[in-house]
Amino acid sequence: MKPIIAIVGRPNVGKSTLFNRLVGRRKAMVDDMPGVTRDRNYAEVNRFDVPFILVDTGGFEPETNDRLLQQMREQSQLAMDEADLILFVMDGRSGLTPADREVVEMLRRVDKPVFHLVNKVDGDKLESGIGDFYALGVETLYPVSAEHNRGIGDLMTEVCEALPVDRSEAQDEDITRIAVVGRPNVGKSSLVNRLLGFERVVANPTPGTTRDAVDTLFTWHKKRFLLIDTAGIRRKGKTTEKIEKYSVMDSLRSIERADVVLIVINAEEGVTEQDSKIAGYAYEAGRGCIFVVNKWDTLEKDNATLGRFVDRIRTEFKFLPFVPIVFVSAKTGQRLGKIMEEVDNVMAQYAKRVTTSELNRVFSAATAAHHAPLFQGRRVKFYFATQVGTRPPSFVIFTNRPEGIHFSYERYLANQIREAFGFTGTPLHLMFKGRE
Ligand code: GDP
Ligand code: GDP
Repeated sequence: MKPIIAIVGRPNVGKSTLFNRLVGRRKAMVDDMPGVTRDRNYAEVNRFDVPFILVDTGGFEPETNDRLLQQMREQSQLAMDEADLILFVMDGRSGLTPADREVVEMLRRVDKPVFHLVNKVDGDKLESGIGDFYALGVETLYPVSAEHNRGIGDLMTEVCEALPVDRSEAQDEDITRIAVVGRPNVGKSSLVNRLLGFERVVANPTPGTTRDAVDTLFTWHKKRFLLIDTAGIRRKGKTTEKIEKYSVMDSLRSIERADVVLIVINAEEGVTEQDSKIAGYAYEAGRGCIFVVNKWDTLEKDNATLGRFVDRIRTEFKFLPFVPIVFVSAKTGQRLGKIMEEVDNVMAQYAKRVTTSELNRVFSAATAAHHAPLFQGRRVKFYFATQVGTRPPSFVIFTNRPEGIHFSYERYLANQIREAFGFTGTPLHLMFKGRE
C-alpha cells in the first residue's frame, strides 16, 4: 500500500509545477491520451526510492482570492487528515504572507512529517533567497525551484526517508481484493451491506494497516473475497463538500490495495467528472475494473434506456472499452448477484496466462496485417512476444526500435491481444525491449 504525499500551498506558489516535476509527466502522454492524464491532480509516482501517490490539493476546486484563507484551511485540513506526508509550498519571490503563517501554525499540530518548501529560488545560491522565511521558526526550510529542477533531488531523498514503511500484509494469492469506489451518495455503503448481507461473512472484520480501515473477508461460491475498507465506506453518510474531497483520496487508497475495482455510478446523475478521474486512476494503476450503475430503479425506462446508458459510459470512458457494465439497484436487490459473477470473471482475466506459442501466433498475424509506421525512415521489426506477468497481464515484446513504437500502434497490438484472448475488464501492460 503506497503512502500518500499531499502538496499544499497558496495559489501560484508553484504547486502544479512541482506536481508535474515530481510525476515526471511527459507532455506527449497528455496529448496522446485525452481524458486520461489531462487535468489530473493525483498520480502514482515510481521514480524515487519509495513509490508513493502524489496529490495536489490545490487542484480540487477553482481558486479565488476572496475565499483564499478558508480554502487554505480546508486544503491543509484535508492533507492533515488523509495524507501520510505533507509538502507545504511557499513562494520565495513574493515572500512570506499571513496565509502562509496561519497554515504553518495549523501544520504544527499534525503528527505527520511536514516539509516546508520555499519555491522559485532559481538562482545559484539557493539559501540566500529565503531569509524572511526563517521567521516562521520551522526547523528546516527547503529552498527549491520546481521549474528549474533545483533542490528537488535532495528534497526527495529526505522525503523518501521520512515516508512510513510499508507494512502491508503479504498478498494472499487466493483472495480477490475488491474496492468499492465512487462519489458520496452513489450507494456504496448500501451495496456493501447487500453484498455482505446475502453472503456469509466468515471472519470478523480485521483492523487494516492504517487509520481505522476495516476489511471484511467473505466467501462466494466457495471462493474467498476481501472487501476493502468497509468501515470507511459505511461511515460516509454526510455529503458535505469536505467529504466529497476526502472521497477521492479514500478511493485512491482502496484502489491501491485492490485486484478488482467496482466503480459505482449513480444512474440518476449519470457520469460525472470525478467518476472519470477515479476510473482513469484505476486504469493507470493497472487494476481490474467493473462499472456498477446503481439506483437503476429510479429511472423511467423504455427499451432504449439501457442502450443509451451504455453508449454514454462508452463515450465518457473511451479508454476503458473492455470494462463490463452492470446495472443494479441496491434498494430492490435487482441484479446484485451479477456483480459477484463479474468480479469472479474479471479476476480470472486479471490473473490469466496465455502460452507463448498462442501469443506469438496472434502477434505475428497482427504485425503482418498492419505494419508499424516507419521510425526515422526505418522499418520497425518485431521478433517475439512473451507474457511476463499477471495482475495485470504484462507482456514483453522484442523489437529493433523500442523507442519508435507509437502509442496508437501499442493500442492496436493490445486490442489484437484482447480480441484473441479476451482479458475482459483488465488493463494490459505492454513493454517493448530492444534487440537488433
Ligand atoms: P499553483 O497555482 O500553486 O499550482 O502554481 P503553478 O504551478 O501554476 O505556478 C504558478 C506560476 O509560478 C507559473 O507561472 C509557474 O511557471 C511559476 N513557477 C513555478 N515554479 C517556479 C519556479 O521554481 N521558479 C519560477 N521562477 N517560477 C515558477
Ligand atoms: P454512499 O455515500 O455511496 O455510501 O451511499 P449510500 O449507500 O449511503 O446511499 C445514499 C442514498 O442513496 C441513501 O439514501 C440510500 O438509501 C440511497 N440508495 C442507495 N442505493 C439505492 C438504489 O439502488 N436505489 C435508490 N432508489 N436509492 C438508493
